[in-house]
Amino acid sequence: MSDSTKKAQLVTDEVDVALIGAGIMSATLGAMLRTLEPEWSQVVFERLDAPAEESSSPWNNAGTGHSALCELNYTPERNGKIDISKAIGVNEKFQLSRQFWAYQVGKGVLPTPRDFINPVPHVSFGHGDDQVEYLRKRYEVLAAHPLFVGMEYTDDRKVFDEKLPLMGEGRSHATKVAISWTDAGTDINYGELTKQFLADASAQGTEIRYGHEVVGLRQDGKKWKITVKNRHTGDLSVFRANFVFVGAGGMAIRLLQMSGIPEIRGFGGFPVSGQWLRCTNPEIIEQHRAKVYGKASVGAPPMSVPHLDTRVIDGEKGLLFGPYAGWTPKFLKEGSWFDLPRSLKLTNLPAMVAVGLQEMGLTKYLITELLKDQKAKMASLREYMPTAKDEDWELVTAGQRVQVIKPIVGPRFASLEFGTTLVNHFDGSLAGLLGASPGASIAPAAMVEVLERCFGEYMVKWAPMIKEMMPSYGVKLSTDEALFKKMWEYTQTTLRLED
Ligand SMILES: Cc1cc2nc3c(=O)[nH]c(=O)nc-3n(C[C@H](O)[C@H](O)[C@H](O)COP(=O)(O)OP(=O)(O)OC[C@H]3O[C@@H](n4cnc5c(N)ncnc54)[C@H](O)[C@@H]3O)c2cc1C
Repeated sequence: MSDSTKKAQLVTDEVDVALIGAGIMSATLGAMLRTLEPEWSQVVFERLDAPAEESSSPWNNAGTGHSALCELNYTPERNGKIDISKAIGVNEKFQLSRQFWAYQVGKGVLPTPRDFINPVPHVSFGHGDDQVEYLRKRYEVLAAHPLFVGMEYTDDRKVFDEKLPLMGEGRSHATKVAISWTDAGTDINYGELTKQFLADASAQGTEIRYGHEVVGLRQDGKKWKITVKNRHTGDLSVFRANFVFVGAGGMAIRLLQMSGIPEIRGFGGFPVSGQWLRCTNPEIIEQHRAKVYGKASVGAPPMSVPHLDTRVIDGEKGLLFGPYAGWTPKFLKEGSWFDLPRSLKLTNLPAMVAVGLQEMGLTKYLITELLKDQKAKMASLREYMPTAKDEDWELVTAGQRVQVIKPIVGPRFASLEFGTTLVNHFDGSLAGLLGASPGASIAPAAMVEVLERCFGEYMVKWAPMIKEMMPSYGVKLSTDEALFKKMWEYTQTTLRLED
């Protein structure tokens, strides 16, 4: 049998929905569609041998339930005033996540919430007169807003030392410090959350093919023809799907390019790798219980803001500090050195070059980070924990991010985006998610946007069920305090955050 006949005979499988990648995004969209259309067949292709091994793995990301409680990049100061509009937007989206997860807990899809979500105070940290002043102003605006109620602030050194003993011990009294904090924060194991979703999906009939890489994606009439390679045997198989979601993390840009949809033309991807310092001393880990975010250094991308971070993974407490940015041309941690060169096209080259020239601050920041040896990394940690000892910390590699380079018309030619960007084909048959921030925290809001953009004709039918899954869908919680309180109590109880 010739090779071509062999491949032709493989065209057998027809599915309604194909999800590429077994990370938190595909898992979330699969769960949503399963609730809305239980009869639709679904298949997941994952190139690795297990779910959530890339960015969604718990040690590859920081596990922060991003709701703008502590991350200072969501509250920039403009002309002496703190702009909280971004913070409100992120918080609103995170409330949808809490509601979606609580709904799925109620349905038994997510059987053990405390395995993936835990209460951990979120703290913002400022040192030096300017940062302390900024933090105070930020606190005053946020604490008055219904979504941030319960936030507290101090620049009293005694309270600081009591709240954050690891950060207070050995700290000079010469420089002023301040913190704002709230007990409403969470640590989330997105890997565990993905696994719980996919375990249920599998039980409901979704076929999950691990070790299978999508190597071809082409529109074929009204369907998509997906060529999949078994990475262990080299065998190829072909699927035809009505709808494809590209949830391939950093590799999404390459797959969207492969699909040939015009909407991806001009987009590029810029990879930024990362490292953490992870604490190995259980006595130190026990002395800290907070996610403490500071200010980013000049030129640093927002996601590189340093933080000293309590983690709860597999029932055990952990402590990490970072991230330190690095650089490789790979689009996935388990990717190839050719990922970046292969993504360069005539259509995105102008945008890539323009961003290279425009973002000198980022380039300088990356070079400085790359030159940091272990000693310099420990010095950065000591700005947070002055008594940190080398022997208590190990360096580990974090997940890979691919920042979106977006073509724009105007004087800047292109922009480097630090958020997420949804790209979809105009006929709604294919969508993919680029970028990584605020990332996993807002997966339900991002996936509802996929539904809105790709399944417009179903939205009237689906709206009541979407409202059941996420009661604040379509409502601004910041203007409906009563609903916010009701949803807060419901999610606190259902996610067992008060236990
Ligand atoms: C250092 C770092 C810190 C972060 N911190 C946070 C945080 O604190 N809070 C937060 O909310 N978010 C955070 N994020 C972002 C968050 O981790 C991501 O947004 C999220 O995990 C992305 O999920 P995903 O499903 O899109 O991608 P992934 O989890 O990367 O999954 C994509 C999957 O697709 C597979 N795949 C790729 N190509 C193919 C192919 N051709 N065929 C088949 N399978 C393929 C990959 O193997 C992978 O398993 C962080 C990210 C990083 C890197």
